[in-house]
Amino acid sequence: MPENNTVATVIHARWVLTMDPNQPFLENQSIAVDKGRIAAIAPRGTLSVQAAETIELSDHVVMPGLINAHGHASMTLFRGLADDLPLMEWLQNHIWPAEGRWVDEAFTQEGALLAMAEMIRSGTTCFSDMYFYPNVVAKAAASAHMRCQLSFPILDFPTNWAQNADEYLRKGLQLHDDYRNHPLINIAFGPHAPYTVSDAPLKKVAAYSVETNMAVQIHLHETAFEVEEAVKNTGQRPIARLNELGLLNPQLQAVHMTQLTDEEITLLAETGTHVIHCPESNLKLASGFCPIAKLVDAGVNVALGTDGAASNNDLDMFGEMRTAALLAKGVSQNPSAIPAQTALQMATINGARALGIDELTGSLEVGKAADMIAVHMDDVTCQPHYHVESQLVYATPASQVTDSWIGGKQVMRNRQLTTIDLEDILTKAKLWKAQIQMADEHPNE
Ligand SMILES: [Zn+2]
Repeated sequence: MPENNTVATVIHARWVLTMDPNQPFLENQSIAVDKGRIAAIAPRGTLSVQAAETIELSDHVVMPGLINAHGHASMTLFRGLADDLPLMEWLQNHIWPAEGRWVDEAFTQEGALLAMAEMIRSGTTCFSDMYFYPNVVAKAAASAHMRCQLSFPILDFPTNWAQNADEYLRKGLQLHDDYRNHPLINIAFGPHAPYTVSDAPLKKVAAYSVETNMAVQIHLHETAFEVEEAVKNTGQRPIARLNELGLLNPQLQAVHMTQLTDEEITLLAETGTHVIHCPESNLKLASGFCPIAKLVDAGVNVALGTDGAASNNDLDMFGEMRTAALLAKGVSQNPSAIPAQTALQMATINGARALGIDELTGSLEVGKAADMIAVHMDDVTCQPHYHVESQLVYATPASQVTDSWIGGKQVMRNRQLTTIDLEDILTKAKLWKAQIQMADEHPNE
């Protein structure tokens, strides 16, 4: 608590879900926020502070903001462009050609802001992104005041952002330098996948990540086809190849992981590799099922991501928690697998751990950043409620999130965004749609 007992904000909340294992669930609490951090959490009436602003949330749960640990924000402009197709056909015949034609700085900026508006309005305060022009996404995130990890892409082949693996790396490392001390933005390596990046650049990523302490995020074992092709072409499953290249370690965030042997699960646990589970994208592309109950039992840190809106098709982490919990029960044939509390951990503190920022965010604890959301529970969709955690995972729509703070700044107040001009971004999204649809229907013009 500051010495003069004055703080920026005090929030009086009916319930507080801290995700701190020492005192996970509290009632009738006051949260003091000062200089972007949580200064105190105490029973209502026991805090003797002067606050510049006092907020009353008498029918709400205040909880950590959700962490969307994998996505491609700007692809929100391709939402619904090509649906109901298998992964490689979707990528090769639809997404990659559309990206080649449309992705530039304006597309990336406007798509990212559309995604951030959707994410804030559905309770996400921190996201991980892997897309072209991460320099543009960084500026957009700073203006929207959103916390993020930007995993700059690395590929063997040219795209609109860079011509070869060395240029991707050079541009990405420059970006890392530019944002070295930014309070909200972390830069990470984003080698796209084992089948699009060869050994030489992957070795460089392994060496640089040790040297710079930067995280690495990669799509890995997304489909059975990916693993079969790798075995045919290299004689190895991709996980074994990455292990030989020195990439399996606590800095690696492996996304998807639908094809895993028991030995591979043990290897992930032993090396401290994080798994980012994207259940709705895996379901939509029929990619397979990530065995998260087995991973959690083995001690692997599992976080959650939506993936891009072109393969989900939303960025709603409440929906993702629900799908993860339900799917895990079906896959393991065990209704006790991934209980509501575990699903909430995956969407909060586990996400922070995977991104290497759990000292800063992911739970409500004194000294951590004030990254919080308020969820209104006095609604027909949430009543009656016996167990708040179950209610949040199994019944509460994301539209019940009323308020959001990131680093202490209120980015949504009673459903109104304070850092993004929603009307402007919706107008731009409609303009992009008109252009993209016209080109899609008349490809030779
Ligand atoms: Zn992805």
